[in-house]
Amino acid sequence: MGSNSRAELRKIAGQVRAYLEAQRDLGLEYVDVRWPEPPAAAPPPTLDEVREELGDCTRCKLHGHRTQIVFGVGNPKARLVFVGEAPGADEDAQGEPFVGRAGQLLTKIIQAMGMQREDVYICNILKCRPPGNRTPESDEILACSPFLLKQLRAIGPQFICALGGPAAQTLLQTKEPISRLRGKFYDFHGIPLLPTFHPAFLLRNPHEKKTVWEDMKLLLREMGRTSPPDPASRAPRPQATGR
Ligand code: URA
Repeated sequence: MGSNSRAELRKIAGQVRAYLEAQRDLGLEYVDVRWPEPPAAAPPPTLDEVREELGDCTRCKLHGHRTQIVFGVGNPKARLVFVGEAPGADEDAQGEPFVGRAGQLLTKIIQAMGMQREDVYICNILKCRPPGNRTPESDEILACSPFLLKQLRAIGPQFICALGGPAAQTLLQTKEPISRLRGKFYDFHGIPLLPTFHPAFLLRNPHEKKTVWEDMKLLLREMGRTSPPDPASRAPRPQATGR
């Protein structure tokens, strides 16, 4: 500390002392030096409140292209939330995330994990379909992601699975490719988050399905659930005999 700062501190200490002595002379008996109570944390919103706040959103340019907002679906108190990228054409038409081909594969993955879609919560980084299913742009993510964060606060999941690069990179605030991020847990505001490949990527690269299954087994283990057998190794159903 420089001599100027020390002199300044001495001056302030002298002023405080003079102030307290004056207060004592006026009858002050003690000074309460406890820290004030921190303000109580606001209770989490409900999903309905988050949806209401989102309203008929026009916060980014995507609103002009959408048929409808695709908010999210599933158990409002889910232990596990899947976060994808953005609605595609089927989701935009139906108003529900992951209902197209990639969504059907996600449903199969969830079922192979011993759960149903209704047990988990499914949503996206963006609530509106980008034209031609292009990758979300940063201004769109900036406008939309506060609502995803509020959804996650409303649900309070114990685990999050980020599907694909844009979801993982947005939630983890990184530019690392999904190939490096996947298969490991990260801390997301105290919630373990596991990135894995997006189901649409699996449709184009079916040999990576086993990689995702390894990731899902890791997730199930962390969740304290036993892994069902590998879906690829299940015996085919017996053929009907015609009788
Ligand atoms: N891909 C996504 O990332 N989300 C959907 O809802 C559908 C496809």
